[in-house]
Amino acid sequence: MKLQSGQKLVVASHNKGKVREINELINPYGLNAVSAGELGLPEPVEDGDSFAANAIIKAEAAANAAGIPALADDSGIEVHALDGAPGIYSARWGGEQGDFNMAMSRVNDELNAKGITKEEERTANFTCCLALAFPKTEEQMETLVFEGKVYGSLVWPIRGEHGFGYDPMFVAKGETLTFGEMDQTRKHEMSHRANAFALFKKACLVD
Ligand code: IMP
Repeated sequence: MKLQSGQKLVVASHNKGKVREINELINPYGLNAVSAGELGLPEPVEDGDSFAANAIIKAEAAANAAGIPALADDSGIEVHALDGAPGIYSARWGGEQGDFNMAMSRVNDELNAKGITKEEERTANFTCCLALAFPKTEEQMETLVFEGKVYGSLVWPIRGEHGFGYDPMFVAKGETLTFGEMDQTRKHEMSHRANAFALFKKACLVD
C-alpha cells in the first residue's frame, strides 16, 4: 500500500512534540499532514495493553472521524530494572499537566529505591509503534503497524533542553549526549520513531 505525494493524512495525536516530529519525517514525501488536534477530533480512550494496540485504537478512531487515512504513534520508555515501567503509561507518569520533570524524578526515585544507581545498570529503551489506518469502507483496508526501538541508558541529573518527554534523561548506546542535548536531526537518525518510520517508509512511501 503506497501513499502518493499530495495524499492527505491525519496525524492522530494531540501531543505537539510528536506531531512536530512526525511532520518533519513525512513532509519530505509530499504528504499533506493535518493533526487530530487541528481538526478538533476527540481523543479515544487508550485502553490497549501494548503500544501496538494503542496506536491502532488512535489511528482507526482518527481515520473514521476524518474520513481520510490516519497515522498514529504510540510510544514510551521502558526501564529494564523497573520491569518495563512506565512503558505504555509513559504519558500518564507526567500527570494531567504533562510534567516530565516529575515523571523523570519518579523514574530516578524508583531506581534509587531498588539500589540501581550506576548508569550501566540503568538501561532502558524507547519503543514507538506507528499505525496507519484507513476509513471504513466495504473493502476494508487492514491497519498496518510498524515498530521501532532504541536502546540506551538513563542519566541523573537530567541534561538538555531539546526534544520532549523523557529525552533529557536518555543516552542512546554509543552516544554521550542525551536526546535532550543532541541536535534533533541527529535524534531523528537514530530514534525509536526513526526506526519505526523507516519500516513505514519502505512499505508505504514513494521516494
Ligand atoms: P503516548 O504515546 O501519547 O501515550 O505518549 C508517549 C509518551 O512517551 C510521551 O508523552 C513521552 O513522555 C514519551 N515519549 C515517547 N517518545 C518520546 C521521545 O522521542 N522522547 C521522549 N519521550 C518520549
